[in-house]
Parts: sequence; C-alpha cells; structure tokens
Amino acid sequence: MKIPWKTKGIVLTAPLSEGIDDVIKFIDEYLAPRGFNLIVMQVRYRYRFKRHPEVWGYDPLSLEGVKRLLNVCRKNNIKLVPKMNLIGHQSGFPNEPTDGILHGHNQVLSDIPDALLRAYPSFDEQRGTNEILYSRSICLSSIAAKIVVCELIDELMDAFEADEIHIGCDEVFNAGLCPECSKKTRAELISSWINSLNDHVKNRGGATLIWGDRLLSTKETCYNRWEASDDGSEGAINMLSKDITVCDWHYDKYEKYPSVDIFANKGFRIMVSPWRDKGNLEAFINYAIEHDKGHINGVLMTTWCGSVDLARRLLYGERGKWLHTEQIADTIDKTFTR
Ligand SMILES: [Zn+2]
Repeated sequence: MKIPWKTKGIVLTAPLSEGIDDVIKFIDEYLAPRGFNLIVMQVRYRYRFKRHPEVWGYDPLSLEGVKRLLNVCRKNNIKLVPKMNLIGHQSGFPNEPTDGILHGHNQVLSDIPDALLRAYPSFDEQRGTNEILYSRSICLSSIAAKIVVCELIDELMDAFEADEIHIGCDEVFNAGLCPECSKKTRAELISSWINSLNDHVKNRGGATLIWGDRLLSTKETCYNRWEASDDGSEGAINMLSKDITVCDWHYDKYEKYPSVDIFANKGFRIMVSPWRDKGNLEAFINYAIEHDKGHINGVLMTTWCGSVDLARRLLYGERGKWLHTEQIADTIDKTFTR
C-alpha cells in the first residue's frame, strides 16, 4: 500500500534477551528495506534502570542491548523512540507464551501488577481495593510517583539517546478513584498529569507522544469504549498542550474515522495507528489520506506480539507463537511492501 507521509513507523516490544539478535536482523533485513524509518519500542519497565533497579520488569534490556538496537537503527536511518505506559496498564495478563507483555483484561479475578506498582504499591490508584478494573493505574495526585516516573523517563531517553518518548496513557478506566484524585474531574487529572510529563520532556529538549483514545468521546464518535472515552476523560482534549503528538489508534473497521478530523480541528498532529485487521488498516489509512489537513505525520503500525515472535515469523517463516502473531505478520507483509 502506498503511504503518502514521510514517517513509516512500527511499535516493537523490547526484545526478550534470547532473541535480540533476531530482532536486530529483522530491523536490518526486513523493516529497513521496506522503508520503515521509525521504531517505537515498547519498553515499559523492561530496562535495567540504574537509578531504580527496584522497578525492573520481566527480562529487562541491558544498556548494551539498547546500544545494539540503536546502532542497527542508525545504520538504516531509522529513528528509535522508547515507549512506556505512564497512567494505565500498570497490571494485566501476559501473552502466552510469556514475552513480557501485559494486556488489560476484563475477565479475570486477579491480575499481575507491573514492576512500578510491585515496587511502589502506594502509587496504585486502586490501592486498598480488591476490585479489578481491566488494569491498574498510577495515582495521578501522587507527587512521589511523578518524581520516580520523570527519573525513569530521563534514564530511558538517555539510554536510547532519544529526543522523543511515547508515554502511552491509553485505556485508562480508573482514574480519579482515590480521595485526592476524586477532587478533580478526570479530564483535569489526565491533562494536568500528561502536561507536566510533557513539560519535563520539553525541558530536556524532547517531545512527547501519547495514544489518543482518552481524548475522544464515544458519544460524539462511532468508536467503542476502548478507542474512546465514556467517563468524561475526553474533556482533556481541550486542556492538553498542542505540541504533544497524538497516536490515533483504531482496530475495528469503521465507515468513517472522525478522530482524524477532530484532532485536526483541535490543532493536534497525529500518527495513524492501525493493528492486525487489514481491512481496517486500509480503510483507516485511506480515510486519513482523504481528510489530511496537513496534520498527519505518518503511520505508526502497532503489533502487541513479542518482537522476537514477529521477527522469527517474518524472517524465517516460523509459526507465530501468540494467537494474533500470524495475522499481524501477514498484514505487515502485505501492506508494507518494498
Ligand atoms: Zn489518586
């Protein structure tokens, strides 16, 4: 498929240590020849933070591993941007077989906290409650949480030598629960947290990317409650700094993608972010091409399978291990041709 914008990006999870060589080869021999020039690496806490070893996640990347990834990206003129989840997705259920990725889940009675909340239970917005609401969130009123998070941002951006960071902020269903947070509206809470992280990133000369779903309204769009908000968070769209790049993700196929127009009208630059469904990918990209007001940076293809699983599928034809890997690989292979 012809992509008219200059940025062709893909989200890759930080590779498991046993497969980092395959991911490096995948970048060099598969992604680069197909014109990818941006990799957003979903790290979360899977990095050997020196200042905060207490928040090391599953099989954390070493600094040497990051530099090897950075080298292969630079050789191929690919920008490497680290990604964390800095509101929601602080707990979840892992892919099978385990590749270090936790997804939110509605059907479970208990979930696995990610490394930040394991180390700092007091940062949990749902602390003291047993109810499981999809995934846990950081308490957005916690000054201590913001200090630790900013230190993690600094160390990750330094390691990746990055001038941008993606801070996630998608699928937040449980902001504003604790006594302190409940004094503010969800829109105020979310926007002031994101703006302050963005200020921190800007102060060090960087720029911020986020997912766009919490800024959209289910009532004003056709989108479901994962792709848009039904709890008032959507008001944050009017309070956020316009220099934040919004990654507008939609995974179901729609007739129209009104978020493309909404973000243009609000003055935001966006990345068009599809997933495994090829029909949705084509409809979404075509809609965005027709409705581009000059505000679209490019495509950011999402994956959510382990990067090692994806690399081995697309390099060697090995069968994908996670249930969605085959379809993800197939859609990438047919869309991003040489
Ligand atoms: Zn709180």
